[in-house]
Amino acid sequence: MIRLSNRINNLAESETIKMSRISRELQAQGNDIINLSLGEPDFDTPTHIREAAKKAIDDGYSHYPPISGYLDVRQAISDKFKRENNLDYSIQQIVVSTGAKQAIANVVLSLLNPGDEVILPVPYWVSYVEIAKLAEAKPVYIPTDIKHDFKITPEQLKAAITPKTKLLIYSSPCNPSGSVYSKEELKGIAEVIASYPDIYIISDEIYEHINFIGKHESIAQFDFIKDRVVTVNGVSKAFAMTGWRIGYIGAPEWIAKACDKMQGQFTSAACSISEMAAKAALNSDITPTKKMCEEFLKRRNLILNLMKDIPGIKLNEPKGAFYVFPDVSYYFNKSDGNETIHDANELSMYLLNKAHVSIVSGEAFGDCNCIRISYAASEDKLKEAIKRIKAALEKLN
Ligand code: PMP
Ligand code: GLU
Repeated sequence: MIRLSNRINNLAESETIKMSRISRELQAQGNDIINLSLGEPDFDTPTHIREAAKKAIDDGYSHYPPISGYLDVRQAISDKFKRENNLDYSIQQIVVSTGAKQAIANVVLSLLNPGDEVILPVPYWVSYVEIAKLAEAKPVYIPTDIKHDFKITPEQLKAAITPKTKLLIYSSPCNPSGSVYSKEELKGIAEVIASYPDIYIISDEIYEHINFIGKHESIAQFDFIKDRVVTVNGVSKAFAMTGWRIGYIGAPEWIAKACDKMQGQFTSAACSISEMAAKAALNSDITPTKKMCEEFLKRRNLILNLMKDIPGIKLNEPKGAFYVFPDVSYYFNKSDGNETIHDANELSMYLLNKAHVSIVSGEAFGDCNCIRISYAASEDKLKEAIKRIKAALEKLN
C-alpha cells in the first residue's frame, strides 16, 4: 500500500541531483565516471570566508538567528544590492534562506494559490516546475530556440498571459542555456508585466557574477515595476559556497514578511555560521570571484572549441553561468547496433553507460532536443569527457 501523500508522489526527483546520485553510485562501484551533471563550482570557498566561519563558531554563533537572518548579514545584502545592482532594499525587504532554492520555494508558496498560472520561459531551471507544482499552480511554458539565443520576446510573453497568470520566473544568466538578457530586453519584459498589476516576477540572479559580457542587469532596476519583483540571489555560485546553503531575496516588504512566516515554520532560519561566512563574502573584495569567472570563460571557450568537432550538434554561445546546452536531436533514431536512441533522456543514459560521462537530459529543463553539460570541471576532465562523448556519438548510425 502506498502511504505517501499525493503531493510527494506527484513530485519529481530533481533531475540534476538524480544524475549526480547515479554517477556517485557508479563511481563507488569502481567506474571511472566524469560527472558534469551537477551545476556547482569545483573551486574551494576562498580562505577569508572560511576563516570568518571559524571565527563565528569561536564567537559563539550557536543560537537560532532571527528568522529572516542576522541584521548585520541583511545589512551586508542590502549594501550589496546598492553597490552592485543600484537597487534599494531595506533590511525589512531582505530574507536570508537555506539556499536560493529555499528562497524561491518561500516566494512561490507565499504567492500562489491552486490553479494560478506561472509563466516559465523554456529552458527553465529544473526546480521551478516542481516547486510550482507543490503550490498546486499550473506551469505555462514559453518555447524558445537556439536561433533566438533561448530568450523570449515581449510578444511571446504577452501571448502567454491569461487572467490566471500570477508569476513569471526566469534566470539570467540562465541555467541551463547560459543566455543573458540585456537591459533593453529586460525593459521589454518589464513593460509587458507593467500593464498587468496582478503579475509578479521572480528574477533569479544566482549566476550574476558568472557573466562573460560585462555588467549584470536586474529587472528590479525599472522603478515602474520594482514593487512586483523579487530579486533572488545567493552565495553558492559567486563564492563557491554551494554546501554552505545561503541564498536570499530582496522583495516588497509584504512578500518578505510572508517568507519570514513560511520559513519560521519550516527551518526557523538559515545556519548561523553560514550566515556569518556569507556576510564576509559579501563585504569583501570580490577578486577571487572575478578569477573564478575568468576560469569559467576559459573553460567555456575550450568546451565550445572541442564540441565544434562533433558532427550534428547545434550550440549557442553561452554568455554566462557554466553550462552548455547543445541540441543533440541529430542523434535521435540512430543506433550503435545494440540500442536505438529516441530522445535526450535515452541519449544521456547512453552517454553515462557507454562514455561514462554524466550529463543531464534537456527534458529536465523543458527542452527534449538538448542536453546540459556543466563545464564547472578542470580542463583535463573536460577534454577527456568531450573525447569520450564524441567517440560514443560516432558509434550511432
Ligand atoms: N537557481 C538556479 C538557476 C540554480 O542553478 C540554482 C542551483 N544551485 C539555484 C537557484 C539554487 O541555488 P542554491 O540553493 O545553492 O543557492
Ligand atoms: N543548480 C545546480 C544545477 O542546476 C545544482 C543542483 C540543484 O540545486 O538542483 O545543477
